[in-house]
Amino acid sequence: MKTKRFAMVLDSSKCIDCKACTVACKIENKVPMGQDNYRNWVAEGPLRGKFPDLGQSFQPGQCMQCANTPCDHVCPTGATRVNRDGIVLVDDHKCIGCKYCITACPYNARYYNEVTGAVDKCTFCVQRIYRGRQPACVETCPTKVRVFGDLNDRNSEVSRLLVKHAYKVEKPEMGTDPFLFYII
Ligand code: SF4
Ligand code: SF4
Repeated sequence: MKTKRFAMVLDSSKCIDCKACTVACKIENKVPMGQDNYRNWVAEGPLRGKFPDLGQSFQPGQCMQCANTPCDHVCPTGATRVNRDGIVLVDDHKCIGCKYCITACPYNARYYNEVTGAVDKCTFCVQRIYRGRQPACVETCPTKVRVFGDLNDRNSEVSRLLVKHAYKVEKPEMGTDPFLFYII
């Protein structure tokens, strides 16, 4: 079967910081209550301008689904693995909660789930996408900041967006080869 390379393209300029994406993610993925527990987030940029004409930008984020995965490399039990379509997953049953991967991730994209006793992170809502649905954050965002799809398909929306727009990845100097792309 032909493999996919799942990716996300984000246009942060559309983000209004409503945090609907973070709420949808927590509900969909049963993330326990508490501010230290999250699979995705919205980072706030500095204030611009002078009062009363102030502005601010926001940048949503989550696991970057790296192609070169420091989280995977340090995992002593093989709990972290990359599936055939490039999604980085954690096997709850193999995770011993050592948190090495939390330390190794340059994006602070992982948290320790005290309910399951395992580390957890964004999976692009793997339970939804293989049933033809979109990740919960994509479906919920009222301004359509995120676009999800298969970069191996040249006709997918993510592929077309990356041809049409300039983009950046976060912390390219870390050599992680992220698959979240931010339109600039
Ligand atoms: S749902 Fe969309 S607009 Fe709202 S905070 Fe998340 S990315 Fe920004
Ligand atoms: S963002 Fe962090 S958790 Fe996600 S694949 Fe990259 S190193 Fe691993």
